[in-house]
Amino acid sequence: MSTPFISKRAALYADVPDDKWNDWRWQLSHRLNTVEEFDKVLPLTDSEKKALNTTGLFRVDITPYFISLIDPDDPDDPVRKQVIPVAEELQSFTAMMEDSLAEDRHSPVPGLVHRYPDRVLMLVTTQCASYCRYCTRSRIVGDPGQTFNRQEFELQIEYLKRTPQVRDVLLSGGDPLVLAPKILEELLSRLREIPHIEIVRIGSRVPVFMPMRVTQELCDMLAKFHPLWLNIHVNHPNEITRELEDACDRMTRAGIPLGNQSVLLAGVNDCVHIQRDLVQKLVRIRVRPYYLYQCDLVEGAGHFRTPVAKGIEIIEGLRGHTSGYAVPQFIVDAPGGGGKIPVMPNYQVSASDHKIILRNYEGYITTYEEPTEYQAHDPATCKYCQNKRLEPGQSGITGLLDGEQMFIKPEGFDELHDRGGIQHRLKDPSKWVPLGIGPGESNPK
Ligand SMILES: *Cc1c(COP(=O)(O)O)cnc(C)c1O
Repeated sequence: MSTPFISKRAALYADVPDDKWNDWRWQLSHRLNTVEEFDKVLPLTDSEKKALNTTGLFRVDITPYFISLIDPDDPDDPVRKQVIPVAEELQSFTAMMEDSLAEDRHSPVPGLVHRYPDRVLMLVTTQCASYCRYCTRSRIVGDPGQTFNRQEFELQIEYLKRTPQVRDVLLSGGDPLVLAPKILEELLSRLREIPHIEIVRIGSRVPVFMPMRVTQELCDMLAKFHPLWLNIHVNHPNEITRELEDACDRMTRAGIPLGNQSVLLAGVNDCVHIQRDLVQKLVRIRVRPYYLYQCDLVEGAGHFRTPVAKGIEIIEGLRGHTSGYAVPQFIVDAPGGGGKIPVMPNYQVSASDHKIILRNYEGYITTYEEPTEYQAHDPATCKYCQNKRLEPGQSGITGLLDGEQMFIKPEGFDELHDRGGIQHRLKDPSKWVPLGIGPGESNPK
């Protein structure tokens, strides 16, 4: 039998009555954010004190529940590093950006990021239950003066109504589950009134920072808006407690499929063995590892970055070694707004016109003989092909494969390669030159 997950409470909170401890409003109103408050729970390092005394620091706030998961005597505790700032956070690095995913450029109306053809990211609040030091949206998140804005919300709904290709809305922020329950319910019902929106997703770290917020009442409310999916954000096995297990159980029983998004963080989870333990514990609580993200090039996150190769090494250590359900996709969210790009070990060794050579996780190398008689799929008789939904300008590599396009060219490609020669040479045969010699080069008369 596997051991049960344990719950912890920092010594400072030993005398807090259970009904208070288990009340999310108490947790929210007792969050810690000053040197004096932290000092009562754990001895701060000089680097942490220096960061906390800096003005303009990205917002700090930690729930009593989450800070209790930290071993106070370990300055390298993996939970501690995620939420308590250190001086390195103030350092800049090459290629550092404020908005590394170019989300603001992709926003047709404030707070709505329409990057992909059929789905949008909707930022519904700037507030979180606690703040991750590596936040990719630290440029907008945490600002206490800016919260749910009805005028912007109406603009977002208007855009969604007039954009029928959007079939999937992903609520994020900030954290949608810190919104007042009435506001969240209204928001979801307004989205559900739009017929072309098929699924709604929520990205939330509330179950991890404050699992007591996931009450039965909240789950019953969410269940009114199915199909609704939810991704939580766990980075280290120490975050998987009995309280998180119970919260996930309530959501799963309410019919909400759960996924997990992790960020690969130096000194927190940049280890195959930590990751394997993490993903196995996640599937035990019925949470499917979805994405493992490479850390973004965002201000304040420099000291968390690992080489991309670390993520490949981790996937190498998971695929085949453990349940397929436990293996996330490793994703680099391309700087400049290129979007999410999966990166993985290479399992294809070679290929010829009739076989493909593959290797497995053990290093076993095998051949797969291709069929000699393949009755090719016929788009002319396939009703799905006939009715395919066009993605204007976004057919991408699929468009090359299905013959819609022959090539994809970088901007300026034609101008660069024209070099002013080919057009007039074709028109005027007297300018034709032997192959291999171009205009301007020595061409003996
Ligand atoms: C991550 C993200 C999505 C959702 O991507 P999936 O791969 O479908 O999970 C949608 N829009 C934006 C802008 C995103 O960053």
